[in-house]
Amino acid sequence: MNDNTAAIEQIKLKFAGKCPKAYVRSFGCQQSVSDGEKIKGLLGLMGCSFTEDENEADMIILNTCAVRENAEDRVFGIVGSMKKLKELKPSLIIGIAGCMTAQSHVAEKIKKSYPQVDFVMGTSAISSLPHLLLECLNGAKFSADISEYDDFSAVVPQIRDSSFKASVPVMFGCNNFCTYCIVPYVRGRERSRQPQDIINEVRGLVRDGYKEIMLLGQNVNSYGKDLENGMTFPQLLRELDKIEGDFWIRFMSSHPKDATKKLADAIFDCTKVAKHLHLPVQSGSNDVLRRMNRRYTVEKYMETVDYIRQRDPDFSLTTDLIVGFPDEKDEDFEATLDIIRRVKYDNIYSFIYSKRTGTKAAEMDDPITDEEKGMRMRRLLEVQREISSEHYKRFIGRTMRVLADGKAKKREGWLTGKSSEFIIVEFEGDSSLIGQFVDVEITDAMNWAVSGVIRK
Ligand code: SAM
Ligand code: SF4
Repeated sequence: MNDNTAAIEQIKLKFAGKCPKAYVRSFGCQQSVSDGEKIKGLLGLMGCSFTEDENEADMIILNTCAVRENAEDRVFGIVGSMKKLKELKPSLIIGIAGCMTAQSHVAEKIKKSYPQVDFVMGTSAISSLPHLLLECLNGAKFSADISEYDDFSAVVPQIRDSSFKASVPVMFGCNNFCTYCIVPYVRGRERSRQPQDIINEVRGLVRDGYKEIMLLGQNVNSYGKDLENGMTFPQLLRELDKIEGDFWIRFMSSHPKDATKKLADAIFDCTKVAKHLHLPVQSGSNDVLRRMNRRYTVEKYMETVDYIRQRDPDFSLTTDLIVGFPDEKDEDFEATLDIIRRVKYDNIYSFIYSKRTGTKAAEMDDPITDEEKGMRMRRLLEVQREISSEHYKRFIGRTMRVLADGKAKKREGWLTGKSSEFIIVEFEGDSSLIGQFVDVEITDAMNWAVSGVIRK
């Protein structure tokens, strides 16, 4: 853990009462967005203000994602285009943070090929930000901290993007080493926060008026395995459910190997826990799951689904899927279509396999052409569209509790929000309702959302 106080004071002196404008942009998952809020929190302590326009910024921090190659390429493109900005304003400070820079070969590449970048900072080094900035302000050409395992990031002050939805990381890292995935290499091993720290944070957020608390972890339901007090994720949910107030709790992502009956029971028993489970299956083929090192079979996964659906046949499930894993055969892909038809997910998040340097799958033969992968992806989305448009009809006539979160894009005077089941709901309403819970009677179902009228 870094002691930042002295560095922050020195930076403030350097800023001499000026209020530099910082542009912070996060890419990727909700954990990355949460890290970005911590970066902003630290910059706020140093006296920075914030801008959404990189052209007027005195400091730019890109908080990156490394899960797929196209995410990395996008960031390299943006960093490249920032060369011009630096030429126009040589005092501009540019920093790259997050999962990309936690890979030493990427940090090296940035240092060598992008001289406009002043510092890089890995995912576990957020607390180093004041020190890195101070080095830049003292004239260093390039600074870097890609060290591992600094849990201080859990208690860094945050400037949150929303005033009614807050994410709360409950654990960091991953122990699973799925063969395609870079996460364990860039976020280290699993470390759970102490339950009391989480409970205190959630209580404070509820007191501040937050309506949705999203508990985060790469495998959120593996929470507690490294704690000595024996706390488990279902127990944590039950503890959080006791906090008084009008709010709901979501959590993401759950690994199927740890999706126990106790987890399902906690979801049903806890009144504040949203009635939705995101359970990434990745593939419907046991052979592919084995080669992915997922540690469950389709049969085991379906046991969990069946248990949940016995308690509530309409329960909402969503998933992640990878298309075109190395040597995925036609029959493997058909098995994936089969599982999405059997489970009837309300939504799927599907990705074409992306080769990640340093992972085991990167060494596997990959004879499937990009064209074939693209065709499979289109087919998967087509099948899911059919499932959703049929499955969403079950909500017609029901009243759904919805947290209104913004204006609908295409309908003037309409709002959009998510229901407890994580379904997009559109309805006519005044923008003063944004950030509030409303009851919406569903009258119509599309294949991506449902719509209805507010019940007074
Ligand atoms: N820990 C979660 C789990 O096991 O389900 C998922 C976290 S991961 C950051 C989010 C999703 O990205 C994964 O579920 C997977 O579908 C996708 N993903 C990860 N690595 C990928 C890769 N190399 N290519 C394509 N998709 C990938
Ligand atoms: Fe990646 Fe697998 Fe860990 Fe999820 S469980 S973060 S997919 S290695």
